[in-house]
Amino acid sequence: MRHVNRCETARAGGILMPSPALEFHDVLDLIDSHSHLDATEFNTDRDGVLLRAREAGVCRQIVPAIAFASFPALRDLCARESGLFPAYGLHPMYLPVHAPEHLLELSHWIEREKPVAVGECGLDFFVPDLDPDAQRSYFRRQLEIARDFSLPVILHARRALDEVIATIRRIGNLRGVVHSFSGSLEQARLLWKYGFLIGLGGPLTYPRARRLRAIVATMPLEFLLLETDSPDQPLRGHQGARNEPSRLAQVCTCVAELREVEPAQIATQTTANAQRLFALPASG
Ligand SMILES: [Zn+2]
Repeated sequence: MRHVNRCETARAGGILMPSPALEFHDVLDLIDSHSHLDATEFNTDRDGVLLRAREAGVCRQIVPAIAFASFPALRDLCARESGLFPAYGLHPMYLPVHAPEHLLELSHWIEREKPVAVGECGLDFFVPDLDPDAQRSYFRRQLEIARDFSLPVILHARRALDEVIATIRRIGNLRGVVHSFSGSLEQARLLWKYGFLIGLGGPLTYPRARRLRAIVATMPLEFLLLETDSPDQPLRGHQGARNEPSRLAQVCTCVAELREVEPAQIATQTTANAQRLFALPASG
């Protein structure tokens, strides 16, 4: 099948020659560094979503967990489909379903399943009624787990970036990504200093995201990951719709336009960044 061949060629590290029938973005080798492909929103057409992603050059996706109950289905999905890599963690927005014993289970799960990262975890001070101290406790423990297993960590930080930065600095010896970064250049620089990349997706495509777009226009590319956060954070032109990983090609094009370079350059660098952070095999 066409889409499978394209992904395999891309993962073999070969340079793909565009055929006249293909759009330029089809030949890019992209990694969606943050996709919730296991979400129920995809239950009716997950195969089609995966197919469209591969057609758009998005042959690999990092799929972070949100809660302990979702771990088995996430593992099975990633085992069944090539190019899907799970991360396991307890997401702050799902605090009401977490229990302290899930932290111990998380450690066991990581030991057994050897995921590419710990996450999604972090702090969310935007959503009301999520007890901040309980969030802090789960967050700190997961950072310690990531450090102890020498795994990167996938972070969620909403209205909480300064505290997230202070926490990773205090715990130390960490690396990872702050996904859907929306902070200042100063905050981004601190993250880079402490071993973190920033993940960017749909929000970048909106002209009103001036601060973010200014950061992306000049930042060192080695600290950038591309993501969709599917099914959330739809791109400009798709407001209100379910997001999906195939749209990562448009995020890549957006970054390229902001930096006035070719999309292929952005794809090559950000794919290398994701491979390095998550220790993915070069051949996919
Ligand atoms: Zn997420």
